[in-house]
Amino acid sequence: MTYQVLLYYKYIQIPNPDEFRDEHYQLCESLGLKGRIHVAQEGINGTVSGTPDETGAYMEYMRNHPLFSDIVFKIEESEEHAFKKLKIKVKDEIVNLSLPDDVNPNEVTGNHLSPKEFYQAMQEEDVIILDARNTYEYDLGHFKNAIRPDIETFRELPDWVRENLSEHKNKKILTYCTGGIRCEKFSGFLKKEGFEDVSQLHGGIISYGYDPEVQGRNWDGKCYVFDERISVPVNRTGDAEVVGKCYYCANPEERYVKCGNPDCNKHLLLCEECEHEHIRSCSDECKEHPQNRYIKEHSM
Ligand SMILES: [Zn+2]
Ligand SMILES: [Zn+2]
Repeated sequence: MTYQVLLYYKYIQIPNPDEFRDEHYQLCESLGLKGRIHVAQEGINGTVSGTPDETGAYMEYMRNHPLFSDIVFKIEESEEHAFKKLKIKVKDEIVNLSLPDDVNPNEVTGNHLSPKEFYQAMQEEDVIILDARNTYEYDLGHFKNAIRPDIETFRELPDWVRENLSEHKNKKILTYCTGGIRCEKFSGFLKKEGFEDVSQLHGGIISYGYDPEVQGRNWDGKCYVFDERISVPVNRTGDAEVVGKCYYCANPEERYVKCGNPDCNKHLLLCEECEHEHIRSCSDECKEHPQNRYIKEHSM
């Protein structure tokens, strides 16, 4: 059996998110989809998985919906469901940037570059390639020469920019994220901050990896994804270097686990040896946590 994973978003006014959520849950459940969908007054952001029949019926429903007729689906093949359950939540924002003065990407956002245009722009001199994701995503894979903001969550990014990039407002900024949704708002924020030349990768890293012409060129490592797969390949040219490193021994490693302390859950790139040696924990405190999952699983 093969499955499809759909990644999609749209910034569009949804007048009654709670009502929409309940209807949408019934629809997705009846189709047999699993996944995670966020609904807000500003739009929808989802990743769902199902058989090609199930995802096909969903895409058809959405394209016939008055709000979503032009929504873009990024479609990936998968050997199994990418989620264990179906969860649909109503949120304040479809991605959490928590700006006091929120950005509406339908009013202000950076230029959208196709994968080919983005690839070409990366070759220009004196451009800033700015990763808009979190450090644990960057550390598994990123564009060559991209800047790594030192942030654990997206809402820390505006302050990081103010502290680190303020003197570069006249430079060309190329920003990217997994599926493009974070950059819609973030590139709008950059423009409001006074950055003069801001572009974003349309469709994100996922579309870049599937583009038949660029084939993920210039990407090293893998792309972190927020589902059971944890990572997906991007560079299909065969020259991607492994950039992930084991948290403890620093050997090349692309395997992510969550810290065994359920109160910590930090993302750790860990080789199997170091996982056993450090009982899948990021610190001594986490090793000694009474609920440590590694200890439970191995009944030590
Ligand atoms: Zn190791
Ligand atoms: Zn920990």
